[in-house]
Amino acid sequence: MKKLIDRFGRVHTYLRISITDKCNLNCIYCNPADSALRGDLSGSILSYEELSRLLKIFVADLGITKIRLTGGEPLVRKNVENFFRMLKEIKDKHPFELGLTTNGILLKDKIDLLKNSRLDRINISLDTLRKERFIAITGADNIDAVIKGINKAEEIGYNPVKINAVIMKGINDDEIHSFIEFVKDRNLNIRFIEYMPFTSNSWNEKVYISYKEIKNIVEENYSLVEIKNGKHNVAKNFRIEGHSGTVSFISSISDHFCDGCNRLRVTASGNLKLCLFSSSNSEIKLKDYLRDDKITDDEIAELISSSLQQKELKHPELDELLTMDKNNMLRIGG
Ligand code: SAM
Repeated sequence: MKKLIDRFGRVHTYLRISITDKCNLNCIYCNPADSALRGDLSGSILSYEELSRLLKIFVADLGITKIRLTGGEPLVRKNVENFFRMLKEIKDKHPFELGLTTNGILLKDKIDLLKNSRLDRINISLDTLRKERFIAITGADNIDAVIKGINKAEEIGYNPVKINAVIMKGINDDEIHSFIEFVKDRNLNIRFIEYMPFTSNSWNEKVYISYKEIKNIVEENYSLVEIKNGKHNVAKNFRIEGHSGTVSFISSISDHFCDGCNRLRVTASGNLKLCLFSSSNSEIKLKDYLRDDKITDDEIAELISSSLQQKELKHPELDELLTMDKNNMLRIGG
C-alpha cells in the first residue's frame, strides 16, 4: 500500500469529505450572504457509488485511517442511511475510523442507525445555548432539535460527544462560561473554535477572538489541566478540574497547526483540496477521473499521491486569506 507523504515528510492519514453542499441552516459565519460568492455550489456532486469507490481507494490503497463526513449538512442528503451502509461494508474489509460533523437537527431520529452502521465519532455544532440567539446566528428556530440530538448521542454511548462552537466577539463570547456549565457533568467536550475568515463570510477583526482570550475567560472561573496532545491533534485539550466534561480550543488562526497536518479534503463536487485554505483554482478535479471509465483505481490513487506533492508547508497568512477567491466552508466542507 502507498503512503500519502508530502514534500515535507508529512504522512496523510485523515480525510475529510463533504457529501453535500446543501445545508438546512444559514449560519452567519459559514454560508455566504451573497450567492455570487458561493463558488460551484450548483455543480453536480459525487454519487454515493462514486464516493464509496473514492473512499475505498483512500483506505485500501493510500493509507487513510480516519474519515470524517461533513458538508453542508451531511444528514440532509437523500438516503444518507444507504451511504452509511455502504461505508460499513468498506469498513468491514478495510478498517478505518469514521466520524461525522453535523448541526444535529436531524440527528435524533438517525443516530441509532448511524451507530449500527459503525459511526465511531460525532461532532455536533452549537454556537449558542439561547433560543433567540440560535435563530439570529443560524436563521432557523431549531435549537431544541439540536439539544435532543446531543442528548441522544450521549445516551447511546458516544463519549465524548464533541460540541463545536465558533466564538465571535460581541455575538456569543458572553456564553463561554455557560458552555462550560453545559458540559461539566456530562460526556461532552466543548470545542471553542476561532472564527476563520473566508472571502464570503462576515469575518472582521472586531468579531475575531483568539483562543488565548477565550481560554483566559474560561480560567476566570475554572481550573484547566492540559491533556497530552497527539502530534496531529488540531485541538488543545483540557480537563476542567472537578468535572467530567472537557474543553478544547481550536486555534486555526492565532496558532496554526500546519506542521503536523495529516489532512486532505474532498469537496462535495469531488475536488481534492490539499489545505482548507488553499485557493479553489488549485483543487484537483477527481470527479472527472472517477467518471472516465478507462481510468483505474490505481491511476486515481497515483493521481492523488502525486497531487499531494503540491501541498504547501503552511496555509496563507491572514491578509491573504481575506482576499482569496470563492472559498467558503459550505462548499469545501468544514
Ligand atoms: N453542517 C455541519 C455542521 O454544522 O457541523 C457540517 C459542516 S460545517 C461547515 C463544519 C464546521 O465548520 C462547523 O462546526 C462550523 O462551526 C465550522 N465552521 C464553518 N464556518 C466557519 C468559520 N468561518 N470559522 C470557524 N469554523 C467554521
